[in-house]
Amino acid sequence: MEKSSAFKVQFSGLKLGKHQFDFAVDDSFFEKLDYSPISKGEVEVTVVLDKKSTMMVLDFELNGWVMESCDRCTADYRQHVTGEHQIYVKFGDDFDEPDDSLLVIPRDEFELDVSQLIYEFIQLNVPLRKIPCEESEDNSMCDKDTLKVLKEAEADDNKNNPLWAELNRIKDQLKD
Ligand SMILES: [Zn+2]
Repeated sequence: MEKSSAFKVQFSGLKLGKHQFDFAVDDSFFEKLDYSPISKGEVEVTVVLDKKSTMMVLDFELNGWVMESCDRCTADYRQHVTGEHQIYVKFGDDFDEPDDSLLVIPRDEFELDVSQLIYEFIQLNVPLRKIPCEESEDNSMCDKDTLKVLKEAEADDNKNNPLWAELNRIKDQLKD
């Protein structure tokens, strides 16, 4: 078992067959990615590399969490991250990614930086609509103060906004 914090799978010199690499994603992982909207998290990543004579198969297993914020009340919450992903690596003249599960790398490469792949797999785990408070009945995951303010604003809106009054009138009419 090879331990590394550099997120590199060094495949040259390895015997044919399976080899396991363990990585630990932490805050510093996201800091290095300027474009990452995620800045906090802890994800254990296991990569099993199956080295074959002309290609490689990489099996990723992720388990952990990243810090996200609720779309509704903006409270931070831990988004669970888990998943298994398989990538085929072939050798060619240049770097290429013909599809989501195939990577082409130059023949003279001896290692593969998997940080970008791991980042993509983590992103796949984050739902587009992040409203954990909708799922927790007592809103325990959400910021209660913000929710209270939101509720009050909504109530005020209903009272004062003529559009809401009009919509409610139409709604009532449809009921009849
Ligand atoms: Zn919320």
